[in-house]
Amino acid sequence: MSGAGGASASAADDTLAGRLAEVAGRITDAAAEAGRGIEEITTIVVTKFHPASLVAELAELGVRDIGENRHQEAQAKAAELAALDLRWHFIGQLQSKKARQVRAYASAIHSVDRPALVDALRSDEASVDCFVQVNLTDDPGRGGTAPDALESLVERVLETPGLRLRGLMAVAPLDAPARPAFARVRVLSDRVRRLAPDAHDLSMGMSHDFRDAIMEGATHLRIGTAITGNRPVAG
Ligand SMILES: *Cc1c(COP(=O)(O)O)cnc(C)c1O
Repeated sequence: MSGAGGASASAADDTLAGRLAEVAGRITDAAAEAGRGIEEITTIVVTKFHPASLVAELAELGVRDIGENRHQEAQAKAAELAALDLRWHFIGQLQSKKARQVRAYASAIHSVDRPALVDALRSDEASVDCFVQVNLTDDPGRGGTAPDALESLVERVLETPGLRLRGLMAVAPLDAPARPAFARVRVLSDRVRRLAPDAHDLSMGMSHDFRDAIMEGATHLRIGTAITGNRPVAG
């Protein structure tokens, strides 16, 4: 593999910049292998549990898209770093009562998974990008709508002011290979695009499975530890 030499050389550079470059190289290689343009893929660096200073370092290195999964933490970092030109992606389970507050700083909400949350996000203000999250497991606790409720949830998003549907979001199941799971999301996306032809984005792929996600058409990768290093333990 032609990229392997470069990748292993930079893997030795275990700094934030080194890891960022190494992951970017792997994304470029995977996109080439999939016959896709790199410009159709957005890398969101997931910084949950890390301090705002790490986000500032990432911004210095040219990162613009930041992912967070807990509202209070995301809100505080967004406020502290308001002077930087960052796009905040909310990727965690979201309580309806926090929906309006998340709208205030988020460019995109990747975890829209139930009608009550859609209703809580309704607004007459500028539209926020959103992704409908699909649950690929049988465990309702993992977040995301069941696939058989997908169309009705999509319709709800489409008829709600203040939301712009970008596509689907999914997390691969822990106990099964990622690639078939992502292929399934791609099929679900075809169903969504019958209702919303522009909603073709796919938010999928994390540190350990982003190559598979790129192969199956991911447009938004959510990558944490491969770039940031291990997360600090909470509490
Ligand atoms: C934490 C998180 C990620 C990033 O996970 P890594 O394995 O660290 O890359 C992606 N998506 C969601 C929804 C997450 O909560």
